[in-house]
Amino acid sequence: MTTDTPAAATLPLSHLLPVTAGLSLAGNLQVGGCDLADLAREYGTPLYVYDAETVRRQCQWALGAFKAEHEDTQVLYASKAFLNRPFARFIADQGLGFDAVSGGEIAVLQAAGVDMSTVYFHGNNKGPDELALAVQAGVGRIVIDNLGEVALVETAAAAQGKTQGVMIRVSPGIDGHTHEKTTTGILDSKFGLPISTGAAEAAVVSIVAAPHLDFRGLHMHLGSPIFELEPYVAGVEVMAAFIADLRDRLDIEVPEFSPGGGFAVAYLGEQEPPAWQAYAQAICGTLKREADTRGFPLPHVTIEPGRSIVGRAGIAIYTVGARKEVPGIRTFVSVDGGMADNIRPAMYGSRYEAITVQRPNAPAEELISVAGKYCESGDILIKDINLPRLETGELLAIPAAGAYQLMMSSNYNMATTPAVLMVDGGNARLIRRRETADDLMALDVD
Ligand SMILES: *Cc1c(COP(=O)(O)O)cnc(C)c1O
Repeated sequence: MTTDTPAAATLPLSHLLPVTAGLSLAGNLQVGGCDLADLAREYGTPLYVYDAETVRRQCQWALGAFKAEHEDTQVLYASKAFLNRPFARFIADQGLGFDAVSGGEIAVLQAAGVDMSTVYFHGNNKGPDELALAVQAGVGRIVIDNLGEVALVETAAAAQGKTQGVMIRVSPGIDGHTHEKTTTGILDSKFGLPISTGAAEAAVVSIVAAPHLDFRGLHMHLGSPIFELEPYVAGVEVMAAFIADLRDRLDIEVPEFSPGGGFAVAYLGEQEPPAWQAYAQAICGTLKREADTRGFPLPHVTIEPGRSIVGRAGIAIYTVGARKEVPGIRTFVSVDGGMADNIRPAMYGSRYEAITVQRPNAPAEELISVAGKYCESGDILIKDINLPRLETGELLAIPAAGAYQLMMSSNYNMATTPAVLMVDGGNARLIRRRETADDLMALDVD
């Protein structure tokens, strides 16, 4: 592995790439001191590479920015963005807790040995088994999403003779101005208890009356990615009014508050998401101002970033295959992955950039579309991108691939999920091996 000094500044799109991105001595794209062409040769493609240093820095930046505004802030990593056992341990080592949304995620976190009191359990339809597992595992908070869930959590806690800390997820009626499939804070959403219908207040009242539940506070999550600050400001204002209302009318204190996650990352060269400090100022600044004017004590704050912790850290590497030119219409260049490892373009119309691994500075020569290899016409990873003329067999990297890609992967067409590496200081560590044909058949019962 070459470990020359990264030369990120000489790379195009360096703000989309992991912070350690540079050129190897061989002139290839390198990350974490590792030449990506070497890694592709050794581990095959499609390959997902996570840069440990980028994750570390994002964790530090998130903690630093929010604690600078409000010392009593805790950062929970939203596991659904990317999770496995070694990665959970790495995140815990950075001082973060976790947001989990299923019994499966709780099981992984438990197996990883993380402190379960730092785990917050979310979801709009947690089943009785999941809730029993969560209470048993000792998760710090269960975030109740609907009225019926109050009785379910009470039953689970009572059955184990425990008192469970709970929050409620409130739907503040704020539009995060993101894709309709990823907006969650509006009234017409399956997530959360609306304030305007009285459901949020009814849930708080029944939690306070429940003998095995400890009401800890309010949560909102507006959706993702949210490139604007204004929805957070508006959301915090709505929540603050509700906090004051609960105290004034019902004498109920709200010691904890979460504005959720949703902090954006850049996928395209022209995108420039707000810095951590800007999100922190918008959220904590508004909360402080509201607490001041409405006269309630500043609550403990938990934020739940997923995408913004891992999105930029991950890079997907594919091998270029077939080329199909339809004169006057389009040129398709296919790669050896696609919607099975990255469903986001097909599901959300998400856009990406791409960089040739072996000649990252080569000028663009033609407009093409990067096609996946799966049997769906919609399996196009990048529609219309200007790239150097790609040669069959060369490597193409897609940056900002760390979040919501592998976690949404499928075995469609009996695809095998890619291997995952974590690179750090010139070392590449396999944290998840490539799936094999045997894995695909492992659950078959003949
Ligand atoms: C998905 C999710 C998050 C994380 O969203 P990001 O955009 O990845 O930061 C946080 N909180 C809740 C409740 C979520 O469902």
